[in-house]
Amino acid sequence: MKSIHTPRYQILIAKHSGMCFGVRQALSTTETLLSEKPATILGQLAHNPSVTSRLSEQGAQNADLTSLSAPTPNVIITAHGAADRDRKRWKSAGYQITDTTCPLVKVAHRKLAQLVSRGYLPVIIGQEGHVEVRGLQGDFPNARVILHPHDIPKIPHVKRIGIISQTTQAIDHVRALIQEVRKQRPEVEVVFYDTVCQPTKDRQNSLIELCTAADLILAIGGKNSNNTAQLARTARKLGCKAHHITQASEIREEWLIGIKKIGLTAGTSTLDSSLHAVAQHLEGLAQRASKSTFSPSSNFAGSTSPPIYPSQDPCHRALQPTQKAATSRD
Ligand code: SF4
Repeated sequence: MKSIHTPRYQILIAKHSGMCFGVRQALSTTETLLSEKPATILGQLAHNPSVTSRLSEQGAQNADLTSLSAPTPNVIITAHGAADRDRKRWKSAGYQITDTTCPLVKVAHRKLAQLVSRGYLPVIIGQEGHVEVRGLQGDFPNARVILHPHDIPKIPHVKRIGIISQTTQAIDHVRALIQEVRKQRPEVEVVFYDTVCQPTKDRQNSLIELCTAADLILAIGGKNSNNTAQLARTARKLGCKAHHITQASEIREEWLIGIKKIGLTAGTSTLDSSLHAVAQHLEGLAQRASKSTFSPSSNFAGSTSPPIYPSQDPCHRALQPTQKAATSRD
């Protein structure tokens, strides 16, 4: 866990946070392609507005995966994949496809295929309508999607059920739901392949450590980022105050009243620069508060720990964008 000391509070950064290798790779492939020729992204490359605007500044066009119509001859399948039949339809329509599907999403497709070939009814634990789930359902139209115990009745009464999970679900939630399936259907043979990706597990585990240390958690990422929303939800379940924010400007100063340690985490589609901007913004707020005449009723101005200024702090230097990129995780 990285730590930045300010005159007012400590900022802690989760050991595993921010963009995963899958989105990083998809972004890099897309940017290389855009530097060579015009291209259209079929959906959102990552569920993050900063990534979307960075790509549109480089000329990326957007089209819906189901539209079968794009303004450029080159089209890009996003990190969370698509059904094979969609790839084939775009290819048959004459488009050149660049496929940035994450290798761990491909594992989920392969595992579901194995279960189906062994005669299990396919079940996906995931969010109905999420691009990855739509891709899996496209390959296996018979698959049922469940997310909560009240979804279990959607599973027909068969003898064998084969379950996988959307890669970005919280593994604890997935395991609890499988237990519930086994409880409600004791007569059924239930097989589960764990397809929650390691970067998602790493971020969830780091969050537990962060929650132990911090009074407030800020989970940074797009509002439609499933794993960022999961991080905020998990933090609340662990008893922490938590907010899901997209950018630094959404932080409200009243959230910081009485807070001594702020924990930062970020979803797998969040740019390093967004995390860096939030940390800088918090440092700026603390510096300004220490110089101003704050209301005595405000604990925000009441730190007792000796200040270590960012420029003296080796942990802060590790946060500089160029160095962070060089040591990026996942
Ligand atoms: S969240 Fe996991 S599955 Fe999704 S792109 Fe990242 S590494 Fe791949």
